[in-house]
Amino acid sequence: MNSPVKKVVIAGGGTAGWMAAATLSCQLGQVIEITLIESDEIGTVGVGEATIPPMQAFHKLIGIDEQEFLRATQGTFKLGISFENWGEIGDQYIHSFGQTGKEFWAADFQHFWLKLRELGSTAEFGDFCLELQAAKENKFAITENPRINFAYHFNATLYAQFLRKFSEKRGVKRVEGKIAEVATNSDNGFIQSLKLTSGQVIDGDLFIDCTGFRGLLIEQTLHTGYEDWSHWLVNDSAIAVQTESVGPAIPYTRAIAHPSGWQWQIPLQSRVGNGMVYSSRFISDEDAKKTFLSNLDGPAITEPRVIKFKTGRRMKGWNKNCIALGLASGFIEPLESTSIHLIMSGILRLIKLFPNHGINDVNVAEYNKQSAFEIESIRDFVILHYKATERSDSEYWRYCRDMEVPETLAHRIKLFADSGLAFKGDGEIFRIDSWTQVMLGQRIYPKSYHPIVNVMNQDDLKRSIEEFAVGIKKRVAQLPSHADFVKGYCGI
Ligand code: FAD
Repeated sequence: MNSPVKKVVIAGGGTAGWMAAATLSCQLGQVIEITLIESDEIGTVGVGEATIPPMQAFHKLIGIDEQEFLRATQGTFKLGISFENWGEIGDQYIHSFGQTGKEFWAADFQHFWLKLRELGSTAEFGDFCLELQAAKENKFAITENPRINFAYHFNATLYAQFLRKFSEKRGVKRVEGKIAEVATNSDNGFIQSLKLTSGQVIDGDLFIDCTGFRGLLIEQTLHTGYEDWSHWLVNDSAIAVQTESVGPAIPYTRAIAHPSGWQWQIPLQSRVGNGMVYSSRFISDEDAKKTFLSNLDGPAITEPRVIKFKTGRRMKGWNKNCIALGLASGFIEPLESTSIHLIMSGILRLIKLFPNHGINDVNVAEYNKQSAFEIESIRDFVILHYKATERSDSEYWRYCRDMEVPETLAHRIKLFADSGLAFKGDGEIFRIDSWTQVMLGQRIYPKSYHPIVNVMNQDDLKRSIEEFAVGIKKRVAQLPSHADFVKGYCGI
């Protein structure tokens, strides 16, 4: 198709639809017309409230004021995720967003820490990370030197409303209604228009499918296909409920493993988002619900809702003149809170490759190649949490422990287990620190470390590393509590 793209139609108004509308209107609103269709009757998935740090840069890019955003969405700060009972029942570690230890060019900090342990120190790897220590103490502040790296927790429904206001101000036209039919061009199969149950027809040059798991355009219309990852990521169900807060909001997400799944706790300003993710192959909805409800910390304020999903990715995120974003494009599972990030990177990628002179195969292929690479590296990181377990107390964990994993992940695990090496490839989002924290937290202890640590004087090495941890402790002691910081920052 060589006609220039002038009219963009976004189908769906959940987090994905409104993030796409906000970004496109902000960046290209002067040159394209944007219409978003959403159905009040269908509603949104209503979960997805924890994020990772690049969300900060995303907001800066489109000019969202952080304090306004946090006030509007009941938002809090997130320094990482506390994993409980994952490696073995009773284990706990935090995957934080911070850098651990000092930077050395030849070898990453874990090699020095391994040496330190050999020299008799009992210091934990996390003792050398400011964000992790602040999370443990429920402390938080926005600081520059040293900079604390953070993400957000927020209310997903309020976030979509916030972005709606933002987008409508920048010219996005919102149409409420249910899409009943999708018309395609009989020559090339491109989508031409969407017909609502009201009879209204909305035509466009480029369609963004943000209709959630149903993938109304990308799958139901274009039959793009889905790569199923459920042999690696076995969870296919979730139950979600909101509870009253029973204490000040903590600055991290909790991910608590159960015999056949895991439970999340996402603390917002005035309530907590909770959910249990599980596999129907190993536990019934009824039993999962019992386990979940008996493990809630506060009184429930909503009815439990069951959500079904299939882990995997759409074969092509961009097919013909349709780009799928959000759940319509695939789903890994909520464990490392990456879905909203993938929406953001999908939109930014689309803007970079925007087909203003018409859709061409090269741009489409590039978009699909980059998207596949990104989601596959996240997939591997999430699978690691299940594979690297010593739990054998249930069929679920025995399956996870014994399953074959993608070759790319098997290689990373072996590299770390043999020699303590971790890496971040180009275009990957998880850093060396993330891989290391999770590998160690899940009981993969390297057999050896880099020889460079033996070159330094051992006493000097021990002293300088130990002083670093003391410096972190002092810095954390000076920080306000997370709850106090949120109150002051948001003026509440
Ligand atoms: P939805 O919210 O489902 O929105 C779909 C939209 O399409 C709605 O507006 C609906 O009305 C509209 N629509 C559908 N059909 C039609 C039609 N026929 N006509 C008109 N409109 C239509 N992500 C994270 O980053 N962090 C997390 O912590 C996290 N936790 C999650 C937990 C669970 C259990 C699940 C399932 C997901 C989680 N996610 C998380 C993913 C996150 O929820 C989604 O990526 C995000 O909410 C985007 O959803 P969406 O907009 O694609 O879909």
